[in-house]
Amino acid sequence: MGVLTGRTALVTGGGRGIGRGIAERLGRDGARVAVHYGSNEAAAKETVAAIETAGGSAFALRAELGVPGDAQALWEAFDREAEGLDILVNNAGIGTSKPFAEIGEAEYDRVFAVNVKAPHFIVKHATGRLRDGGRVINISSGLARTAAMPDLMAYAMAKGALDVFTRDLSKVLGPRGITVNSVAPGIIDTDVNAAWLRTSDEAWAAAAARSALGRVGTPADVADVVAFLASDAGRWVTGAWLDATGGSLV
Ligand code: NAP
Repeated sequence: MGVLTGRTALVTGGGRGIGRGIAERLGRDGARVAVHYGSNEAAAKETVAAIETAGGSAFALRAELGVPGDAQALWEAFDREAEGLDILVNNAGIGTSKPFAEIGEAEYDRVFAVNVKAPHFIVKHATGRLRDGGRVINISSGLARTAAMPDLMAYAMAKGALDVFTRDLSKVLGPRGITVNSVAPGIIDTDVNAAWLRTSDEAWAAAAARSALGRVGTPADVADVVAFLASDAGRWVTGAWLDATGGSLV
């Protein structure tokens, strides 16, 4: 018996990176996990297999996010496998790294569509499925609180908007006992950072030096914070922004 036994969780972008870490952790805690993916079916299936090998229960579902009707498509896929939800983790996200002067409208719109609009409508359409006493956990970024990487401005702005969504949504869903929180990672060793983080020892050391703890973060570092919020122990935390940057903002 885990602390989440009997509960169902959905993790968007659960096939890879931070999402996979979260999906595996919630699975170990006993939740049945819906592992959402956009295009990488193999990664989602690997995550499902890893959860099952560890004794848990999971299934994969596909929905392209950031396109019209994305939330409805996601929930239709979810409804084919499960009934009712307790924990929703809006983790899927994309970045765009370009100097301010070079960002085009299409890239800007895409970053906001995937990182802000999709979570908004996923929650809107979740409402009938999300059970009272549930959890909504949005994966933000430390960049919403620091100008350390101005080439990621559009991405940081989108995460800032997601944080406002978190704050205000906590008032909307609070009467049903549903908590809503943002968890903000710093630099985490995932595919999205591999092209620069894993190219040299110097890049790795510079990334590690940003954290007060002197190392690069792992998906499990973030997943453990999410697991706390998802558990009964997190019941009195809502509308909050949790710094999971390993002290990169101090
Ligand atoms: P990642 O390794 O690039 O994985 C992204 C995940 O999101 C994948 O599972 C991907 O699905 C899914 N996804 C992306 N765009 C999608 C779309 N349009 N439709 C459907 N699914 C889509 O990213 P990550 O590093 O784990 O980041 C996860 C979250 O943490 C993101 O919200 C990111 O902004 C945030 N974050 C990351 C870091 C970091 O340093 N890594 C730091 C702060 C915040 P597929 O597998 O199907 O491609």
